[in-house]
Amino acid sequence: MRHIVIVFLGGLLVACGGTKVDQSTVLNPNNPKGVKGSVVKNKATMAEGSVMNAVDTTPKDIEALMTFLTSDDLQGRDTGSDGITKAADFIENIFSRNNIQPYFNSYKDTLENYSDGTAYNVVGFLPGTDFDLKNEYVIIGAHYDHIGIISGDDSDTIANGANDNASGTTAVIEFAKYFAQTKNNKRSIIFALFSAEEKGLLGSKHLADKLLTQNLDLYVMLNFEM
Ligand SMILES: [Zn+2]
Repeated sequence: MRHIVIVFLGGLLVACGGTKVDQSTVLNPNNPKGVKGSVVKNKATMAEGSVMNAVDTTPKDIEALMTFLTSDDLQGRDTGSDGITKAADFIENIFSRNNIQPYFNSYKDTLENYSDGTAYNVVGFLPGTDFDLKNEYVIIGAHYDHIGIISGDDSDTIANGANDNASGTTAVIEFAKYFAQTKNNKRSIIFALFSAEEKGLLGSKHLADKLLTQNLDLYVMLNFEM
């Protein structure tokens, strides 16, 4: 497990590092005012007559999640801010409505390695269906924090973080909804949304340390970044 955790932390480092958000200056009129780097509807995937199963992720699902997570109301989801708390509540609510259980005592798992305010990962759990394989775990994760308010010439100082990493957060939420409905996962799954990634990968480190002490039998970790 240690090997896999190190690989995934390394992956995060490569993917994110200290990069700032790369924002588009083109606003999509279909999305809320002030949301930079908004999602553009893909007409091809919305073609009439396409058959969708109940568990399929639709462009509408993605748009709704992305629109909320990147809205100005969330103030760029800076770690410890009121804005990121709204994001955490939102994710927790989706988990709860879809019968994803909290992995720990509650969905919000407070970081022990962050002292500038309160920060928490949001961690859900779906038991595996196979008698033996359910003891092995797959972690599907992404960081949901971003860099908050930035300075610049632009009057819009909110870094909405659509790419980094509302997109990854949305992917994890959709996987959670999918497996909660299909219940076809033989191994148990942990859905982890990390905070304080932009402060130095603190959320993922906190979870990795915690699961290591539990001696979790980790099969693989998939991290979604941009
Ligand atoms: Zn990132």
